[in-house]
Amino acid sequence: MKPAVFLDRDGTLLEEAGYLDRLERLAFFPFGIDAVRLLNRGGYAVVIITNQSGVGRGMYEEAFVLRAHQVVDERVKAGGGRIDGYYYCPHHPEADIAIYRRHCDCRKPRPGMLRQASRELGLDLLRSFSIGDKWTDVQAGVAAGARGILVRTGYGRTSEAAAKRPVEPVTIADDLIAATAWILRNGSNSEPRGPSPEPRSDR
Ligand SMILES: [Mg+2]
Ligand SMILES: [Zn+2]
Repeated sequence: MKPAVFLDRDGTLLEEAGYLDRLERLAFFPFGIDAVRLLNRGGYAVVIITNQSGVGRGMYEEAFVLRAHQVVDERVKAGGGRIDGYYYCPHHPEADIAIYRRHCDCRKPRPGMLRQASRELGLDLLRSFSIGDKWTDVQAGVAAGARGILVRTGYGRTSEAAAKRPVEPVTIADDLIAATAWILRNGSNSEPRGPSPEPRSDR
């Protein structure tokens, strides 16, 4: 079983656009695709985990979410990276559209999407990370048995300034590329730390 990095989409991989409802507003952070590629190379599956209550609110349809993920996928592939799965929650307890109005298990901070991804993709949650700009991203990770990292992009600075942290992240990083560097240094797939007796010839 592979470890994974569960990535929040908006404000973490993509710039926060309020509700992303048009493809013209889809913009990667400049480091986004590099981060995905580095995580792939580090042996991590990369999985997008995103709350999309805009669907339940009637702001855009599920087809648009799927189309946006196609575009994300094409651009990541063109940059030499790979995203292993996309999971979104269209629900909200107060959604305007009745079929989406419910207390579901998938909406973060609940861990349903991470668990589903783990089952479907064969991922080792205990060696995995959840990265996002909201505490709910960190909470979902911890609830699934993984470790959480908060990033300061998107709503991250506001999250960091909150009087009360609902859960402890393993670190708070400036952005996704800094979080990636932290994982590659400290994650379970990283080389053992400390001085090695012989200089390694493969670095
Ligand atoms: Mg976000
Ligand atoms: Zn849901």
